[in-house]
Amino acid sequence: MQITRYLQEGYSTLKHEAIVVGAGIAGSMTALHLARRGVRTRLIDRWEPGHSRASSTDYNRVIRAIHGRDEFYTRWARESILRWMELQAETGQKLYYQCGALILATAGHCDWEDATAETFTRMGVPFYRFSPDEIAVRFPQFDPTGISYALYEPEAGMVMAHRGVLAAVDLFKKAGGVVDRGHVVTDENERLMLNGKPLEADLVVVATGPWMGEMYPRTIKPISRVVGVNVLYTSTPDGSTAFDHDNMPCWIDHGQGSFGIPSCEGSGVKAAVVIPDTIDLDKDERLIRRETLNRTRSYIRRRLPGLVGQQVVDSKFNQIALTPDTHFIVDWHPAHKNVLLAGGCSGHLYKHGPVFGDFVAGVGVRDYGTADRFKIAGRKKLSPKESPSGR
Ligand SMILES: Cc1cc2nc3c(=O)[nH]c(=O)nc-3n(C[C@H](O)[C@H](O)[C@H](O)COP(=O)(O)OP(=O)(O)OC[C@H]3O[C@@H](n4cnc5c(N)ncnc54)[C@H](O)[C@@H]3O)c2cc1C
Repeated sequence: MQITRYLQEGYSTLKHEAIVVGAGIAGSMTALHLARRGVRTRLIDRWEPGHSRASSTDYNRVIRAIHGRDEFYTRWARESILRWMELQAETGQKLYYQCGALILATAGHCDWEDATAETFTRMGVPFYRFSPDEIAVRFPQFDPTGISYALYEPEAGMVMAHRGVLAAVDLFKKAGGVVDRGHVVTDENERLMLNGKPLEADLVVVATGPWMGEMYPRTIKPISRVVGVNVLYTSTPDGSTAFDHDNMPCWIDHGQGSFGIPSCEGSGVKAAVVIPDTIDLDKDERLIRRETLNRTRSYIRRRLPGLVGQQVVDSKFNQIALTPDTHFIVDWHPAHKNVLLAGGCSGHLYKHGPVFGDFVAGVGVRDYGTADRFKIAGRKKLSPKESPSGR
């Protein structure tokens, strides 16, 4: 195996071959970092990169270091902001808006927010703590009823999701990578197959996001629960800039199971109320449910009263794959020693994309082992206080 030669010679002298399956943010960033390590890499997806069924689709994603007591992801998120800025400079495309993020701590359920404030203080991450009265002055778009306090992270913001994937794929091609179309499947032994033949390379990274569970019914399905998420975009009032990203932050409202993003590039205000929903990844029409429309409208009426009477101008029906502890997955397949499984979304992978891809590439070429938290075995549910995502 060339990978053995790599171990003897180091990657500077070797061009070994890798295949990355799945061109969402996890796969495209991994492929880019493999190519930049001098690895001859092929990136394969079922559909056109950037397609609307992938979890990495849509205009934007929140990027924030707020991760409860978890220092690891806090550090990764801070590093990712810098990486997104570098990618922005390199591509000349707008990928990151620093609009800040506001976490609304519901009275009586502030464990995760309390833990985040302690972590930020310990790590020197800039943040403000606002009382409900201060929220009403600083961000009058929000009605703080039921909120005990808010944490505001000014260096947080949004990354442009669909555009970020396309930028990574483009940079990957410029680094010499090859992009292919194909539906990779597994046989009864979870061996990878493409067009009826085994898929073989020194290294295969499988980054198929929410589809990973069905590809690996024994290895991944037990630790990957896929949930549908409905997202609505609401128009902003005539002549008002109050809901634009210049004047309004992204927000997370755990007590209401909700989060959102201000209007950016004309999108309207994005609001998601997470109602755990089933989804057939391949067969479902990607249309919003009527129940969600009503729930989101009533949430907006309460929390963003300035948007009452506005119209829904866009919507997305997408999915997240949750692991029990909401940690990502970066681990070798137990039976196929050249197959590295990379993903585990848990609703927070996008922002970490550039650092995640670099990390996975390093594990793939065996520069270092994976982190314990990313191993497939030994997963268990964490309390909201312990959980990096607050879920
Ligand atoms: C509504 C919503 C809001 C979110 N908000 C945030 C946020 O604010 N911040 C944040 O950081 N994260 C957020 N997330 C999570 C984040 O978007 C995901 O964690 C991330 O995009 C997952 O990327 P991925 O590459 O693992 O999966 P995907 O983007 O789904 O990519 C998987 C790719 O694999 C391909 N594929 C699948 N099966 C096969 C196969 N058999 N053969 C070949 N190709 C295959 C698919 O076509 C797809 O392109 C959100 C997610 C959703 C749905």
